[in-house]
Amino acid sequence: MKRSPAPSHSIGNQLLRPAAMASGVILLLVWLAWVPPAPSAAEAAHKVPALDTVTAPAAERIAADELLVSLSVLAHDSMEGRRTGTEGNERAQRYLLERFDGLGLAPVAGQRTQAFGFVGRRDQQEHEGLNIMGKVEGTTHPDRYVVITAHYDHLGVRDDQIFNGADDNASGTAALLVLADYFLEHPPASTLIFVAMDAEEMGLQGARAFVTDPPVPLEQVVMNVNLDMISRSDVDELYAAGTYHSPFLTPLVEEVADGAPVNLLMGHDSPDLPPGDDWTMASDHGPFHEAGVPFIYFGVEDHPGYHHPSDTFENITPEFYVNAVETVLDFLLVVDREAETILEARPQPASTRL
Ligand SMILES: [Zn+2]
Repeated sequence: MKRSPAPSHSIGNQLLRPAAMASGVILLLVWLAWVPPAPSAAEAAHKVPALDTVTAPAAERIAADELLVSLSVLAHDSMEGRRTGTEGNERAQRYLLERFDGLGLAPVAGQRTQAFGFVGRRDQQEHEGLNIMGKVEGTTHPDRYVVITAHYDHLGVRDDQIFNGADDNASGTAALLVLADYFLEHPPASTLIFVAMDAEEMGLQGARAFVTDPPVPLEQVVMNVNLDMISRSDVDELYAAGTYHSPFLTPLVEEVADGAPVNLLMGHDSPDLPPGDDWTMASDHGPFHEAGVPFIYFGVEDHPGYHHPSDTFENITPEFYVNAVETVLDFLLVVDREAETILEARPQPASTRL
């Protein structure tokens, strides 16, 4: 990906009311103090902090304060950069399992997790990963699925430096939680499946496992909406990549862009672009694309914190982040409304062409 010059970042706490920030910090501390032992489900029910007691302004549909607290937990030093196969990654898994359960997300085909093995691209060693998934059942078309993905793994610790991966991709993972919360309160027509993917940084392995052994038939998947790096932009620019491959999605993105609180741009999805500028295989939407499932990938251009220890909570741009998640919510509402149109326009997935 292309890099841009490095402007300095400030802690953008202008968005947060002091009381809400204080509650958020307290909840974060409570959670971090509690997390080390693996609790039983019964214990967890009493000890998970009641994040929903922090209320967002009425004008906002998503819970902005919860969003930022969740990101700060996932990007905390105690998660040790969430590298697949490490204790820090397992700690992130425990947090996400508690949150998926606490929100009341239903299992997918009876499963909360999808375990998978793979051989690392670089080290040629065998690794194990774990996707965490939950669904909000559709009210009129429960057998149609929109799969919303975000990877929770990151690079871990290198040379004693923690790569916290706040933007990449605690941001997308925390967004899954507030979006799921919204749709549990406002049920969609089609079923929404939320997947926190593992081992993206090791070669999109969680997404490969999902499409290789899908918990629901891929021909019933309307599309994939992937979130990866959505919390940091000094220029208020969010990309929705994928319309090059699925032009029938262009009017849907345009409709959202018209009223979006960020500059929503299309692009970064054409093979004619210079190497690195085509993001078609840059994140977990890639394997969905290869399997014939349309995708829209939401993300920002590379910034100075990209795959760098400075990708921390302090360096995200909170107001942009909240606006980006509101924009994704708008898009999901349009996709839910237009699911029939998308299903008619999309090609049959590769698995059914055999
Ligand atoms: Zn990423």
